[in-house]
This record gives sequence, C-alpha cells and structure tokens, in this order.
Amino acid sequence: MEIRIGNGYDVHLLARGLPLFLGGVKIEHTKGCIAHSDGDVIIHALCDALLGALALGDIGQHFPDTSDEFKGIDSKILLDRTYKMITERGYHLVNADIMLLLQKPKIAPYIVKMRKVLAEVLDTAPDRVSVKATTTEGAGYIGREEGVAAYAVVIISQ
Ligand code: MG
Repeated sequence: MEIRIGNGYDVHLLARGLPLFLGGVKIEHTKGCIAHSDGDVIIHALCDALLGALALGDIGQHFPDTSDEFKGIDSKILLDRTYKMITERGYHLVNADIMLLLQKPKIAPYIVKMRKVLAEVLDTAPDRVSVKATTTEGAGYIGREEGVAAYAVVIISQ
C-alpha cells in the first residue's frame, strides 16, 4: 500500500457585490471573489493538493481560466472531476486539512456545512475533512479585506 501527500494553496481578490463561495457553501457577505470560476479558494486549494499528491500538475493546467467551459463554474464540479483522476488511479482520500485565511465575515457558522459538502463530493465522511479558519489580525491584503486565501493538505492511499 502506498501513501501519498499533497498540498495546495489559492488566493482570490474580493470585490463588492459578487457572490462569495467557500468550501462549496454560499457565504452571506457584501463581497465575493473575482474569478473565472465561482472563486472558491478552499476547493481550488483542495484540488491542487489532490493533484499534487499524484504529481498530476495543477488546477490551471486541467481547468484553464481561459476556457469558456469553466466560466462561472461551480467549483464542486472541478473537485469532483479532480477526485475522479485520483480514484481512477486506484487511490482514495485518507484525510484533508484545510486552512482558510479571511478577515470577514466570521466563518464558524459555516464550517460544519462546508465539511459535509466537501465530504459528499469526495465520497467520504466529514470527520476526514477538516476546515479551519483564521484572520490575519488585520495584516496585509487579507486583513484589509482585499482577498481571501486557503491552504490544503491531503493524504491519499491506494
Ligand atoms: Mg482559484
């Protein structure tokens, strides 16, 4: 049995009046991500972590932001397609740990829902998908509410 690890990172800038999607969940807020897709940084970081675990390149390679096919796309579809690449190669997710960096709004009320939604796409249990969040104490572009970022680490196994 082989075990592989992968990590991912994503950033999107925020702008007023756009919808905000994080971890596959719509968040009530005055700002949302500027993006070609729905701008879900949690899912994008997770996709890159899964791809990285099997050295399959990165999300931009598989789902280019120049393609009309992915314009405004629900990132859960990208995660589903990414995870299929993993399972097709005989691997499954052991666990994922995600760290979201966001100044506002408070994300705690959405965490359980995010874990459930992500676990469903990844065909696993919510206790294998961790989502954590922090502010940057007002520092930098995240603190100024100009952007949002996420880190993801996954372990997959044969
Ligand atoms: Mg992205």
